[in-house]
Amino acid sequence: MPEALSPALRDAVELLSNVPLLLVAMDFDGTLSPLCDVPADARALPAAAEAFAQLAALENTVTALLSGRDLASLRAVAHPPESTLLVGSHGAERWAPERFGAGIGELRLGTDQERAMSLARARMTEVSALYPGTSLEDKPSGVVLHVRRAEPATGAAALRAARARLDDLSGVSLLDGKDVLEASVVSADKGSALSWLREVVDADAVVFAGDDVTDEHAFAVLSGADVGVKVGHGPSRARFRIEGTGHVPALLQAVLDMRSL
Ligand SMILES: [Mg+2]
Repeated sequence: MPEALSPALRDAVELLSNVPLLLVAMDFDGTLSPLCDVPADARALPAAAEAFAQLAALENTVTALLSGRDLASLRAVAHPPESTLLVGSHGAERWAPERFGAGIGELRLGTDQERAMSLARARMTEVSALYPGTSLEDKPSGVVLHVRRAEPATGAAALRAARARLDDLSGVSLLDGKDVLEASVVSADKGSALSWLREVVDADAVVFAGDDVTDEHAFAVLSGADVGVKVGHGPSRARFRIEGTGHVPALLQAVLDMRSL
């Protein structure tokens, strides 16, 4: 069996022992948790959750979750340690413990956003009704079409149809993910969210791992001693890669070992 972490990734993780304040930010679905047909059933792999909780308890290491889920759903499936900063809806929702003084990023939509939201929801509903096996998820910042449970050809057609129906809506941005298309009325991406986390925490370096195309925005804002890890296959601008969710515990454990020296 191949090593979970490449020698180059091990070297990069070793350098993290000298970083005064480290931010460990993780995507949730497909990273801490295996991908799951029923989003509410997703849970972090026990070994990943354990290492993450131990990192959260360290003095000079701060943890964060950076997810496309809305905050309520992220909290429900992830049960994050109390000190963990949370970013939901790809950055549209942000929460930090009081000691960071960043306040709670509660999402309030303006009238135009509300209007764009109901148009987007109506069009997504029309599309979903035409393609069996697809479903909709309502989020505070938008609406998501899920096609994971549809036949592959049906799912692909549904995504194309949704894109065509929603492309011209003003105030709505479309975000592609794995077997999903999200229409959002709040412009946010994981890159600006990760930069916000780094600033709030005042981190000297960042570890970030993610599996989806939406995580590429986050990899793009990493530099220097930061460690970006793509989970699984597909093109990525991350410096490192691990084979899948099953290797995330080894990554977190390696970071934990370095930070516990
Ligand atoms: Mg993911």
